[in-house]
Amino acid sequence: ACKNKHSACLEYSSELNTFSVERLQTLSELKDIVSSNQLSLYFQPKLCLASKEITNVECLARWIHPDRGFIPPDDFIPLAEQSGAIRQITQWAIETAICQHRDWYKQGMDLKMAVNISAIDLADPDFAKIVVGLLTKHHVEPHKLILEVTESAVMSDTEVALQTLNLLSKIGIGISIDDFGTGFSSMAQLKKLPVNELKIDKAFVLEMATSVDDQAMVKTLISLANNLGLHTVAEGVEDLAALNLLEEMGCTYAQGYFISRPMPPSDASKWLLQKTR
Ligand code: C2E
Ligand code: CA
Ligand code: CA
Ligand code: CA
Repeated sequence: ACKNKHSACLEYSSELNTFSVERLQTLSELKDIVSSNQLSLYFQPKLCLASKEITNVECLARWIHPDRGFIPPDDFIPLAEQSGAIRQITQWAIETAICQHRDWYKQGMDLKMAVNISAIDLADPDFAKIVVGLLTKHHVEPHKLILEVTESAVMSDTEVALQTLNLLSKIGIGISIDDFGTGFSSMAQLKKLPVNELKIDKAFVLEMATSVDDQAMVKTLISLANNLGLHTVAEGVEDLAALNLLEEMGCTYAQGYFISRPMPPSDASKWLLQKTR
């Protein structure tokens, strides 16, 4: 038993070592991640349930590492937030999304681009200026851009974050609250924020066809949003049953594998051209 305990302990510590070496390597690579050209932006359509048209697209970052292969955003975004590299990543994502919008616009498609931003971005007093600069540089109208901010990031409730959100919103940029329902925001806090849209977290949507509790939760969140005059997006729509329920409940947009997985630019172009014809 003692021997087992010992080897378990050794295994554990060597795992920790690997983890920290990898972590340090990742941190150093994140410093110039944008210029390394290893990042790529994938696109996942949002289906408008009233018109059955694709009007919006979410942009999701992918890191394709030459040795380690595909690194999911949940593995590097938190590290980038800690190291500050997230600012470069966010600017890259916004500029890439804006350029893709222009590209698709030239092909006859007018899509709103939703980009994920983090609490660190909102805390930067220059952030709104940077975003406006990018829109101006590429001649794209502000209302073509939606920024998705997690519920926990906006509820941190700092003065700068609120000012930044107000500025962005006044310019005409859409503000969407991501992962809604997983945080602890109050109605009072929500009312204070310049928000256009609530994104219902996939945790409530994935199994809504078979879970009465999840269904009740989604229904409540949609009616809350409707009463506040906000659009809703349900993410994690994986089956037709969920799609039908969401339509019945008055949800604005559905997003999920049932409609499409996030796609690299070339596949997204083909997919979108087919759908919008
Ligand atoms: P999120 O913003 O909540 O994005 C939704 C996640 O759910 C995405 O994972 C998406 O690929 C996945 N998803 C979409 N439809 C379905 C479905 O039907 N079923 C299931 N099971 N999953 C679905 P992804 O792309 O791995 O991104 C994970 C998280 O990483 C995102 O969560 C977001 O918080 C963050 N992230 C991704 N790209 C960026 C970025 O450019 N900047 C920042 N700050 N965060 C990003
Ligand atoms: Ca999102
Ligand atoms: Ca989510
Ligand atoms: Ca998330």
